[in-house]
Amino acid sequence: MLRRTKYILLFLAFKSRKNIAVHHKRFTGLLHPGRNKIWGLPRPRKPPFSLSIDPSPGLRSGDKPATARPALHLVKNPYQRLIHLLRNKVQTMKRTPLKLTATALILGSAVLGGAAAAEYPERPVSMVVPFSAGGPTDTVARSLAEAMRNSLGETVLVENKGGAGGTIGVTHVARAKPDGHTILLMHIGFSTAQSLYKNPGYSSDSFEPVGLVLDVPMTIIARSDFPANNIQELIEYLKANADKVSLANAGIGAASHLCGTMFANAIGVDLLTIPYKGTGPAMNDLLGKQVDVMCDQTTNTSQHIKAGTVKAYAVTSKERVPTLPDLPTMQESGFEGFEVGIWHGMWAPKGTPRPALEKLNKALQDALQDKAFQERMQGLGANLLPDRANPQALADHVNQQVPQWAELFKKAGVEPQ
Ligand code: ASP
Repeated sequence: MLRRTKYILLFLAFKSRKNIAVHHKRFTGLLHPGRNKIWGLPRPRKPPFSLSIDPSPGLRSGDKPATARPALHLVKNPYQRLIHLLRNKVQTMKRTPLKLTATALILGSAVLGGAAAAEYPERPVSMVVPFSAGGPTDTVARSLAEAMRNSLGETVLVENKGGAGGTIGVTHVARAKPDGHTILLMHIGFSTAQSLYKNPGYSSDSFEPVGLVLDVPMTIIARSDFPANNIQELIEYLKANADKVSLANAGIGAASHLCGTMFANAIGVDLLTIPYKGTGPAMNDLLGKQVDVMCDQTTNTSQHIKAGTVKAYAVTSKERVPTLPDLPTMQESGFEGFEVGIWHGMWAPKGTPRPALEKLNKALQDALQDKAFQERMQGLGANLLPDRANPQALADHVNQQVPQWAELFKKAGVEPQ
């Protein structure tokens, strides 16, 4: 883009016989009519593209600019500034009034407009995970960030903003600058929290959907020395000792909260719940035997189940999980209709420009085709959703999920907090 823009500017410089100072995020320079050259000057502190006219007479070939101090500093929207420049400055110049043809103007605006869009991302993209580091969402995000990097042409940095069942992090993204440099990776809690909280701080309308990512089953687990050895023993133990058992979760609205509450309700017990900012730290306490039971995603529990450092009782998917073949489903264990899949989606704040959304979506789709990402996620029991990794599919899914959960909670008598 720079070369084409440079020729437009050179044309202007030539017509006006003035030097044009160009400030771009990659360079600062002075274009002058006598020579097809930009002298590189130190990079400006403020990155946006800007144009200005040097009031001194145009330099001739071989001359060196003393300074590139512009008479008129033009920042922000380059198209607007260019028009302003042409109308108000160049045309009033005595030496050679500039007659810029409509074609050149259109060409210029197209080049500059296209340039602005083509530049996303301008810096690393922050992928917000609304839970602690080391947990299941974080695990997905870190692999996904790595897989998106090539396609996006920029680093994707994972930022953990845990608390209040994920609503703090989600709200943070809802309020972030909508320029595509802050995105959200969240799961089913995006829709459940909208009716579990009176004011979750956001709504579906606060976002631009990018696409669905994957679906993760949950597992019911306990500390390694917990007395129950299978799901039947677990049910009996919990019924007899409900007041002695603690249930870890990641706060109201989190997947672990949803699954744990459904399980406790299904067997009719009321357990002491211990909320964390994510199931990463909750898992640490389970491994340290400070809490007893948890329902958590296979993206966090698989390795511990395989290593035998936790006891596992069942999976919440309809079918058994291929990587954990010994674990029965909840349905097999007698919990008719107990099926919870933790779908994950990616969003950007409302108002994020279309070109940035398209690039993000492309990067997401490319990541879902990435062999290393596929293997890692499937190894942790996740199902990738490449056919639904698009804005419409995520919007439709959320529009179906939000009222569905609202109705379920209402029926169950769950009051919003
Ligand atoms: N997925 C969350 C985490 O990453 C926990 C949850 O939703 O239960 O910690």
